[in-house]
Amino acid sequence: MIYQINYACGHSLDMKLSPDPVDARDAVVDLEGRLCPSCEKAQKKANREADRDEVDALLPPLEGTPKQVAWARRIRADFFLALTEIEKEPAPEYHREMLHDIRSDQTKRTKAKYWIEFQKLCRPTSIEEYANLWWLERRTYYVSRQVQLTGEIPDS
Ligand SMILES: [Zn+2]
Repeated sequence: MIYQINYACGHSLDMKLSPDPVDARDAVVDLEGRLCPSCEKAQKKANREADRDEVDALLPPLEGTPKQVAWARRIRADFFLALTEIEKEPAPEYHREMLHDIRSDQTKRTKAKYWIEFQKLCRPTSIEEYANLWWLERRTYYVSRQVQLTGEIPDS
């Protein structure tokens, strides 16, 4: 069955829903409480921009041409947004220290070029991979810190 969905934003779309009228009715009620797909997408984009601005306001200014700076600001803000998400996850103390060091190292990077190069190596979605690389580089240091903090030798 095709139903007309009148979204909360005022847009309407026809949509094929379940042949079961009860299920279809529930789906209509649910959908009509939301924004249409394109308004939802626009809202997500606007929210993302607001989040980026918020993060950027706490970071030092970037150096480079205006074009480089505009580009690098986005990459840097996305990196710190992803890092903040990772920091919310429960983690052992030595891992927290690593994240803390990543944050402080990356905060000092103010060359727009660095962030543009950085994105080629590491998309914000693969920040965990980056953290792993970072961790491997400093593994000896963190292993010794973990031994100090917990008395345990971590599994490799
Ligand atoms: Zn809409």
